[in-house]
Amino acid sequence: MLESYSRAWIEIDPDAIAHNLEETQKLIGSTKIMAIVKANAYGHGDITVAKACQAWGIDFFGVSSVDEALRLRQAGLQENILILGYTPEEHWHYLHEQNVTQSLCSYAYACKLNDYAKSHDVIIHAHCKVDTGMNRTGILYQPQEKHFEDIVRAYQLDYVQADGIFSHFPVSDDLGIDASTFTKQQIGLFNEVLDRLKDNGIDPGLTHLQNSYGILNYQDLGYDYCRPGLLPLGLTSDDQIPIATQPDFIPILSLYANVSVVKWIQPGMSVSYGRHFIAQKPTKVATMSIGYADGLPRLISNQGVEVLVHGKRCPLIGNICMDQCMIDVTQVDNVQEGDIVCLIGHQGKEQVTMDAITRSAHTINNELASTLGARVPRLKKR
Ligand SMILES: *Cc1c(COP(=O)(O)O)cnc(C)c1O
Repeated sequence: MLESYSRAWIEIDPDAIAHNLEETQKLIGSTKIMAIVKANAYGHGDITVAKACQAWGIDFFGVSSVDEALRLRQAGLQENILILGYTPEEHWHYLHEQNVTQSLCSYAYACKLNDYAKSHDVIIHAHCKVDTGMNRTGILYQPQEKHFEDIVRAYQLDYVQADGIFSHFPVSDDLGIDASTFTKQQIGLFNEVLDRLKDNGIDPGLTHLQNSYGILNYQDLGYDYCRPGLLPLGLTSDDQIPIATQPDFIPILSLYANVSVVKWIQPGMSVSYGRHFIAQKPTKVATMSIGYADGLPRLISNQGVEVLVHGKRCPLIGNICMDQCMIDVTQVDNVQEGDIVCLIGHQGKEQVTMDAITRSAHTINNELASTLGARVPRLKKR
């Protein structure tokens, strides 16, 4: 990949990460932050983000898979790493070789991992996942199914050492009465597990429950860690979702592309595949070098989504192509080949947000950011 500020590129502001971690810390009292950098730090660049987090003082990272953990180790990061997801048996040797903590997705999984560790005479560090309502991974602990004995047995394994315990929220982003009742029930269930473990003489180790919205809406719950992925990036899932706090986050990502061609078209002439844009008046059209293969969703075509050229808002017109798309720059003087178009970020006095693109694509920033094209270089903010 040519790492240049041309064609289509992302700029990352690592200084804003420290600010965002500071803002996050204000919400959660003495709880520490485990920075979740899975999926290439939601597409932002895992190593850049992790190193900025490390410089700020983060001592625990969360990833989704063993290869993501290895990337951090290969970049020289010595901090604790928790794999939140599933690690297949053929990769288990990395867990002890690279000192990576595995989450226990089920009691059966914990037993198999213990057999492996025993046969290799190694200790594998783990955090016990308790499923209080997501019904994705973890040992069930819900009002209808409380598998407490399995949690106890997971702690009693000889070669898998559970030195932490966690659970996950499915609706902490929703302040509605049903959702908040559910989330509070989960907090109660998690605390019940912790109390019962202590009553059984078991030290639960490190405790953590909150994802980003868990932090924003439930703030300080007093656990050892919380697990934000979005917040260090200065993002929420959708800026229209109401939250219980007023943090001041700065998005760390900007997205740019170059203008390749500028031309005037006349009434009746159409733009792009499908001919969905037809000029009603003489229109100055700029082509830019970014498309859906760069992560700009084709779904946002012809919805009036705006980008910035010379600091002025210009609508996208016509269908987004794989590597290119077009904008109406009639209102902007002197647009030329090579000019910089800002799709996410600031230009002059104007700002365009990831949220605007995300909303037109009917998704959340988590998905949009993590699907930004692999071919788009992630560069340092200029
Ligand atoms: C992805 C993930 C997180 C991060 O949560 P965000 O709300 O996306 O910041 C935390 N915990 C678990 C288990 C996750 O899978």
